[in-house]
Amino acid sequence: MLRPHFVGSFPRADVSLDPPLPELALIGRSNVGKSSLLNALVSQRIARVSRTPGKTRMLNVYEIPLGRRERGEVRDGAHRPPGVDRSVPLPSPLSLYLLDLPGYGYAKASKTDRAAFQRLLVGCLDRARLAGVVWLLDIRRAPSEDDGAMQDLFAARQTRVLAALTKSDKLPQGERRRRERALAAALRLDADQAVVTSARTGEGVAELRDAIGALIGSTGA
Ligand code: GDP
Repeated sequence: MLRPHFVGSFPRADVSLDPPLPELALIGRSNVGKSSLLNALVSQRIARVSRTPGKTRMLNVYEIPLGRRERGEVRDGAHRPPGVDRSVPLPSPLSLYLLDLPGYGYAKASKTDRAAFQRLLVGCLDRARLAGVVWLLDIRRAPSEDDGAMQDLFAARQTRVLAALTKSDKLPQGERRRRERALAAALRLDADQAVVTSARTGEGVAELRDAIGALIGSTGA
């Protein structure tokens, strides 16, 4: 079976990826825990957990298998002789491309870096095969101005959003639900668009994986 793997780092968002697959962008401010959550999602250290935020300017692309190849019956069996195995691989996508954008909102980023990031971001959101974004937000923090700008970009394009609220282990259990509701309200997200996660404890990782599968499945991208 195909394993998650790194496809490459690209300076521009208009890179053509072969074979064509559904795409999902991974977006969040620097230090939000993006590399850690990506590693948790694929159960291996595929992304580098950085100690110097805001350093990368590239779009990092990973190919991630979505699950086993499903088999099912094709309903044209009337013309087949009895006893022939009608079970064939369903035409569901086998994997997706995760488009890992650099972290945003790094206070010391230069004007050039900010402009480069904006080009990369908008280019990604406008990619034809983009099914949606996983937007990471630290569960403890109020949304920043940059987060608000991001929300506006998503809304303008009607980009489908899954919000992963990160580092939940830093809050007591009861507080997590309260923050989830508060953040969902502040960001105008439905309850089923937000998932409480922790790369450290694994909370919410399986749920996020399922939500990604559902998003890809429902868009038919
Ligand atoms: P990125 O810059 O968004 O890719 O974030 P990283 O994954 O590099 O993580 C930034 C910092 O947050 C690192 O010190 C991580 O150890 C820490 N971190 C990431 N995820 C978690 C988490 O789920 N819980 C806790 N407590 N710390 C985390």
